[in-house]
Amino acid sequence: MKKKIVFLGVNHAGTVAISTLLEKNNRDYEVLAIEKNDNCSFLGCGIALWISNVVKDPNGLFYSSKEKLEKLGAKIYLKHEVSKVDFKNKIVFFKDLNSNRQYQTSYDKLVISIGSKPFVPKFRSSKFEDWSNIITVKTYDNAKWIINYLKREDVKKVSIIGGGYIGVELAEAVKMYGKETTIIDAVPKILQRYYDPEFTELMTKRMAAKGIKFELNQLVEDLKGRDGKVTSIKTNKKEIETDFVIFAIGATPNTELFKNTELKLLGNGAILTNKHQETNIKDVYAIGDCATIYNSITNKADYIALASNAVRTGKSAAYNILGRNDLIEGATGSNAISIYGLNMVSTGLNTEAAKRSGFEIEESYIESEQKPDFMNEPHKVELKVIYDKKSRLILGAQMASTYDISMGIHMFSLAIAKKTKIDELKYLDFFFLPRFNQPFNYINDVALKCPD
Ligand SMILES: Cc1cc2nc3c(=O)[nH]c(=O)nc-3n(C[C@H](O)[C@H](O)[C@H](O)COP(=O)(O)OP(=O)(O)OC[C@H]3O[C@@H](n4cnc5c(N)ncnc54)[C@H](O)[C@@H]3O)c2cc1C
Repeated sequence: MKKKIVFLGVNHAGTVAISTLLEKNNRDYEVLAIEKNDNCSFLGCGIALWISNVVKDPNGLFYSSKEKLEKLGAKIYLKHEVSKVDFKNKIVFFKDLNSNRQYQTSYDKLVISIGSKPFVPKFRSSKFEDWSNIITVKTYDNAKWIINYLKREDVKKVSIIGGGYIGVELAEAVKMYGKETTIIDAVPKILQRYYDPEFTELMTKRMAAKGIKFELNQLVEDLKGRDGKVTSIKTNKKEIETDFVIFAIGATPNTELFKNTELKLLGNGAILTNKHQETNIKDVYAIGDCATIYNSITNKADYIALASNAVRTGKSAAYNILGRNDLIEGATGSNAISIYGLNMVSTGLNTEAAKRSGFEIEESYIESEQKPDFMNEPHKVELKVIYDKKSRLILGAQMASTYDISMGIHMFSLAIAKKTKIDELKYLDFFFLPRFNQPFNYINDVALKCPD
């Protein structure tokens, strides 16, 4: 008899896990998946590119569908919402969002892939639902709505609350509509979770030169307006006039369902998993944004909500169900951003995060040119590596350039995962070809610059 695998949520983690499972073996497994949206596998990562018209056809942002997954043998229930799981008797309860009919299904193994939802702060005198010109960014429908709203002529001032990578990407996209665009954030620097001030300043300057405004270091407390429309945002420092507010202040795991159940959760609600994506309950896996992943540096369960981790955890969980015993040793939170031609990539801990984690750190920073002068293609590269003072183990790296230096950060991700000392990079073999780089690589240089 076939084993029944039930999936809760089908976006990135769910899609990859279902495809992997059924592509490898659809004889022994029956897959049933419940998804509350009317689509699956939408790449939210492409929303800013769609808004800014780099992506012309939003259908390209879907890399699978109910039809494709059903062709592999799965049964996908779209517009159906999971309401409860009885872990003891292995039963999932769910309802059809169109008819409100209730259903239940048993399972042999359960994969929880219900992801995350955008975080919305509490306002002093109103609720999110009270306003018609505010929105969060996550789904296909959100993106479509934002594009239509930006086309309105009465929308002149757009406020983006949150200066993380989503808010920063959106600011560039919104500005293309000729709107006065302001990023508001509680912390003093944009992107400060991933980058040190040298790098965040580079990006801020570049964006400011294109007319983007910043209202940083101030907390949004309230929204004010009339006729259901926000007209100003009240922070603890000032009042900022606005015609449209986009919230991009981070994601929170979609796990209310499991509060007060036997499923163990991290403090922020993420489902605790081991390195095989198994939860504390037998035959129950959790993957993607609703789950923890091990941090390569601390070797502790952490919450790093990224599509890259979602697809990796989805794949490894599928292989584990198939009996291959795969594991993810850890993640380093590698990330990238590319705005107005400035590319920034980072991995591991930045200075602030390293200090917060209790490390006594040293850092090495260099500025270099990507190619020899005779190539006449100037591209400055800035590179910073953070390492533990005593053990000299690499803890993090950040890079910025107008050149595409993105592949460089993968090496640092491996260096962190493999517990590499900064000194091991001094004479590591990097190729040289004038079309690409200089005879002496800046990664060698940054290591040589470190005091013994
Ligand atoms: C604007 C934006 C840009 C981003 N850019 C990047 C990027 O460039 N790089 C990167 O690595 N990451 C990026 N991310 C993060 C990335 O999108 C997430 O990490 C990824 O979506 C996680 O995938 P997931 O499948 O785990 O969860 P989700 O995408 O959250 O999917 C969970 C699914 O579960 C469904 N669901 C939830 N509750 C229920 C329920 N009760 N019943 C049934 N179904 C349910 C949801 O409808 C959803 O389809 C971005 C995110 C956003 C919002």
